[in-house]
Amino acid sequence: MTKSEPVKMQSEGLPCYCGKTGCMETLCSLTALLTDKESLEYFFENVRKREPSFLKRWQIFLSHLANAINLLHLVYDTDFILGGYLAPYLREEALAFLHEKIRQATPFPESADFLMISKMPEYNISIGAALPYIQAFLNTITN
Ligand SMILES: [Zn+2]
Repeated sequence: MTKSEPVKMQSEGLPCYCGKTGCMETLCSLTALLTDKESLEYFFENVRKREPSFLKRWQIFLSHLANAINLLHLVYDTDFILGGYLAPYLREEALAFLHEKIRQATPFPESADFLMISKMPEYNISIGAALPYIQAFLNTITN
């Protein structure tokens, strides 16, 4: 894998906007989870009602997400925080499902706590990117 190649999870699969197939984007993004006309709220309303077709799609999505997390965790060996628009909908049941799938897939024993759900799901990337600058500023006024 070169620096410019997207993370490929499957040799075949749905076409990605990058022009290739089997990318993580086609398996683990919101566009992979939702149909064109669905909202996250509508989707999870049906998951909470235990609608079989929605539960099946959710489990397939979580299985792909677990594979992606496992691959990335094997490479980076660090904690993972799941954020973004999906984070508010990730409950203990989903986290347990992810842990179980990762445990089945990984060649190494895993502690159960390397995977967390963001406490700041909206705008987390921009807030996270700003933290070093805020910390540096705070250091200048406190020192
Ligand atoms: Zn792609």
